[in-house]
Amino acid sequence: MECPVCSGSEDIKILKSKTVSSKTNEINEFLLECNDCNHIFKESIILEKPKSFRLIVSENANSKRTNIDICPDDRLSAGNILISDLGKSEITSFELKNNKRVKSAIAKDIDTIWASSIDIPSRIGISINFKGITQGYKVDLDREFKISVEDVVKIEDRIFKVRVIKTLKKKMVKGSAKASFIRRVYGDPVNYKNYDYDLTNKIAIKKEITKKRL
Ligand SMILES: [Zn+2]
Repeated sequence: MECPVCSGSEDIKILKSKTVSSKTNEINEFLLECNDCNHIFKESIILEKPKSFRLIVSENANSKRTNIDICPDDRLSAGNILISDLGKSEITSFELKNNKRVKSAIAKDIDTIWASSIDIPSRIGISINFKGITQGYKVDLDREFKISVEDVVKIEDRIFKVRVIKTLKKKMVKGSAKASFIRRVYGDPVNYKNYDYDLTNKIAIKKEITKKRL
């Protein structure tokens, strides 16, 4: 808001304000006074009322449904963060009213917003290979936690070295990845005393030792 008389002074005092609500809009009407020239003028700001949209948030294997209020003119894109009653989530895609799936859309065209929770830790698999026998775990890690090939890791009374990291997209035999992108880590047992980190208290599920089929 700026004064229309003295070349855009922004030193403005609000004398009165009221809000008028229609079906789709909310209009804030102001009676204003310029502190520089004492000119009195009116201004109004039109705000489009938010509407409720369907939101489906996946949390690992489950998904939950809720609604979220968004202004119909807002553009949303995959990767945007939403805060709903299900916590923080990251948009993955949109289903439009014509059933198309897209990565970016104007809110009013959207039927359902699909997102994945970023409030919960990432659950990844760990497989340690002992000559034909595999010990499997599921561990819950902070989404930003990085695992690198060659990391030496302790889990329970075992120490293993990371050999392969399987991410959502590929298998890696070098480099590192964040837990949010990792599906499974494959390791070989080593006889070291020292290790880079201990995942014992991150274990969510422990699978009994299974013999590989011959
Ligand atoms: Zn003025």
